[in-house]
Order: sequence, then structure tokens, then C-alpha cells
Amino acid sequence: MTLHIPFSELQQRGRKNPGLVNKIILLEHKPLPNCPHCGSGDTAELYAGSLNDRYTPYLASITSRLKLRPNDVWGKYWCYRCSCGFSEVQS
Ligand SMILES: [Zn+2]
Repeated sequence: MTLHIPFSELQQRGRKNPGLVNKIILLEHKPLPNCPHCGSGDTAELYAGSLNDRYTPYLASITSRLKLRPNDVWGKYWCYRCSCGFSEVQS
């Protein structure tokens, strides 16, 4: 798990927000590609910010597997080790 908050706090939030814990666990277990530059598995899925979408930023504040795409970054995924964006590599 790569949570920004203690799991006990997530469970507590989940009591007020049914489905939240499942959603976070799914994100944590969603397979993400390794970074093509350094091979690190410490990666995140990037999402574009939207004023109408407050749920995705909320999820991203809990799990590091989701990250808001910085303005100068392209790509679908993010590598924490290189601090750069990348797209899935065709095999
Ligand atoms: Zn990397």
C-alpha cells in the first residue's frame, strides 16, 4: 500500500463514505506499467484536473497511485523516481 494516510484513518473515512475503501484498494492493486526510463515500479496514473471533479483529487490525496498531471507534463503515467511522465510502452 502506498497511502498518504494511515489505513485506520481510511477505514474511518470509509464509514462516512461507503465504497471509498474498496475504490482505494482497487487503485492500489491496479497494475501500472514500470517506468521505461529507469524500470521503477513506483509509478502513478496521471489524471487531468477538472473543476467539476472533486472526487479524483480526493482519491489522489489518499493514494499515491493517482497523481494530478502537471501542466508541462505529457503522458498517461508518472514515475516518482525520475519525476517525469511517460506513456505505456508497446511490447
Ligand atoms: Zn523512472
